[in-house]
Amino acid sequence: MLNKQLSDQETTSALDCDLIIVGGGITGATLACALKESGLRITLIEARPLDVVAAKRQAYALTLLSGRIFAGLGVWEDILPQITRFQQIRLSDADYPHIVNFHPQDLGTAQLGYVAEHQVVLTALQRALQDAPNVRWCCPAQVEGVEYGQDAVTVTVTQEGERNTLRSRLLVGADGARSQIRQQAGIETQGWKYWQSCVAFTIRHQNPQNDIAYERFCYSGPMGILPLPGNRCQIVWTEPHAEAQTLQEMPEEAFLQRLAERTGGIFQGLELASDRFLFPVQLMQSKQYTQSRLALVGDAAHCCHPVGGQGLNLGIRDA
Ligand SMILES: Cc1cc2nc3c(=O)[nH]c(=O)nc-3n(C[C@H](O)[C@H](O)[C@H](O)COP(=O)(O)OP(=O)(O)OC[C@H]3O[C@@H](n4cnc5c(N)ncnc54)[C@H](O)[C@@H]3O)c2cc1C
Repeated sequence: MLNKQLSDQETTSALDCDLIIVGGGITGATLACALKESGLRITLIEARPLDVVAAKRQAYALTLLSGRIFAGLGVWEDILPQITRFQQIRLSDADYPHIVNFHPQDLGTAQLGYVAEHQVVLTALQRALQDAPNVRWCCPAQVEGVEYGQDAVTVTVTQEGERNTLRSRLLVGADGARSQIRQQAGIETQGWKYWQSCVAFTIRHQNPQNDIAYERFCYSGPMGILPLPGNRCQIVWTEPHAEAQTLQEMPEEAFLQRLAERTGGIFQGLELASDRFLFPVQLMQSKQYTQSRLALVGDAAHCCHPVGGQGLNLGIRDA
């Protein structure tokens, strides 16, 4: 539809751009990358400096489909050498003595999925956008206001103390779970906050093999373990809020002891390789993903429990 409207040169030239994306996280940058050869003039507004946005300490399980999407965007060659392809998923449930194993043969693929660090993915996307003549970063910049009109959306933005207005055909909110764009548009959400938070951190170990993802379900909450390059793993440990906070704050030695117990001694030479970050967990869905001159993507549109490893994958699919 946008391409068709672009042929209306008179209207188009009166606008500053065809698409404004607010939020330069992985979802927003993926969308810009997907459209960089469309001929559309795109402005990406990001609140924080690009290197700060890329430096987020997080890793994600990526699905095979996300890999194919990134391959289609031409960034996969950059990403693939720096991530893990996992060859097995082991699911275990509280006291139940058996383990459910998934293997690539179950899918007829070379791997079950990937684990990628935020920095690797976002840096590759930023690099791919670097030379795109029709994509302009407005960053770090603050959105001061948005006005939706019949023919255009007007975004007031402040960058380096200077206030500007940008007129565009469409605004996309890719600005995360607490989306200012969604809230200002009056779009309501539904969902709930879980009674748990998760503690996310990276460990280093000395096991000879590191291509297995674990999902362990316990009465107090699930734990996900994702293998990372360099004999590291990203662990997301979910517990009731107070217990999760205790885990974050307890001395490292005691924490590693608790972790060794919880993981059933599967890791040799366990060490903590990052800070411990605490995230409250919620399920949230916007009641609308689109309205006139606006679309929401990624966490701005929906958030889910990290246990399924789906949040970012959904955002990539939205883009
Ligand atoms: C512990 C944990 C583990 C997870 N593990 C997985 C996993 O294994 N697999 C998976 O698929 N998902 C996982 N997720 C979910 C995943 O982290 C999110 O779904 C994903 O990061 C959302 O990306 P996004 O780009 O939509 O939003 P964000 O990453 O929140 O990015 C939003 C961007 O918008 C910018 N921004 C915000 N407000 C404004 C504004 N007003 N103006 C301009 N810019 C703005 C922010 O600075 C940021 O750069 C996990 C989540 C958690 C908490």
